[in-house]
Amino acid sequence: MDQATTSPETREREGNAVRASDDPPEVGELLPPDRTLMGPGPSDVHPRVLRAMSTPLIGHLDPSFVEMMNEVQELLRYTFRTDNKWTIPVSGTGSASMESAIGNMVEPGDTMLVPTNGYFGDRMAKMARRAGGEVVEVDAPWGEPLDPDDVADAFDEHQPDVFGFVHAETSTGVLQPDVPELTSIAHDHDAYVIADTVTSLGGVELRVDEWDIDVAYSGPQKCLSCPPGASPLTLNDRAMEKVLDRDESSRSWYLDLSLLEGYWGEERAYHHTAPITNVYSIREALRLVAEEGIENRWERHREIAGVLKSGLEGLGLDLHAEEEYWLPSLNAVEVPDGVDDGAVIDYLLEEHDLEIASGLGALEGDIWRIGCMGYSAKRKNVEFLLAALEDALE
Ligand code: PLP
Repeated sequence: MDQATTSPETREREGNAVRASDDPPEVGELLPPDRTLMGPGPSDVHPRVLRAMSTPLIGHLDPSFVEMMNEVQELLRYTFRTDNKWTIPVSGTGSASMESAIGNMVEPGDTMLVPTNGYFGDRMAKMARRAGGEVVEVDAPWGEPLDPDDVADAFDEHQPDVFGFVHAETSTGVLQPDVPELTSIAHDHDAYVIADTVTSLGGVELRVDEWDIDVAYSGPQKCLSCPPGASPLTLNDRAMEKVLDRDESSRSWYLDLSLLEGYWGEERAYHHTAPITNVYSIREALRLVAEEGIENRWERHREIAGVLKSGLEGLGLDLHAEEEYWLPSLNAVEVPDGVDDGAVIDYLLEEHDLEIASGLGALEGDIWRIGCMGYSAKRKNVEFLLAALEDALE
């Protein structure tokens, strides 16, 4: 949701009364509550990742750090299932890797085709417009995936240059099937494909090279169970050629991939100060992925989310998405008639220190969103959640 910033009028009404005191503020030691995170992200962070974050800082051009950057790139390639040279963690949250993808691939005069079946397709549209592109849409209802026939029709009608789709729609709990079919339609029309893999990377089968995805972006705080701050992005050579061949520079200096190339490419020259601690954390989170094995990890998500799904059904609750498009990492659960969705969320947080989330956008008030991601995707958490939810619904 685009939060409206406080207007000057509001500030005036409120008297604009923020004034620094002359006395040092008395702020207590940081003691966050001990929550179990089963919402749409962030998910619980593995203790090894937290430990990695508390190791000493080194410089972002230190030879040891440069070596760590290579390792992170290698681990990211493994996790994305790609050989793309252009595979990096973008400094910032998932929206930063998203805007690097869209803001660099879409140039003024380009047309981007985006989906209407969830909250994040709409964010793609907003970013494409800011990049100076025209936006056209392919429709599907919220709670359903895109139909390849509709995508083909939209291509015939609009001839877009770039096609974006959301592999795992966090707002609806829908997994987009038929990805190779979608990419082949786009490539038959000489277009580039950008995939949002924020809620799928590291938790749900994703094969960037085999499925012929040109650009994929993600976030670390979902199935990678890593704090937000360094967000995965991968581009194949064809996509990177388009980026390097632009007539006009990307509108963002910070996210301009032709400049980031200097830092993450051969040269390793300063562009901005990398969020070193976040690079440590994603390195450790990705090491955990490699130790488990990516396919085992996909399987664990399916298995544990399967226990969750049957348990929810046992409580008489329905999942919003059909079995065919069920997204193990994000379960959209229909709120039963007469139940106040917000009251249940508050009760779980207050009584059980357990986080789940409400619906977003068109599904606000209709669903709860229960994540089963990364380190949170374990039987113990699911059993705890089901017992707590049963208690809340009593
Ligand atoms: N795309 C999807 C599918 C998401 O779920 C999210 C975040 O939840 C984003 C993009 C944006 O990521 P972030 O909130 O980390 O900026």
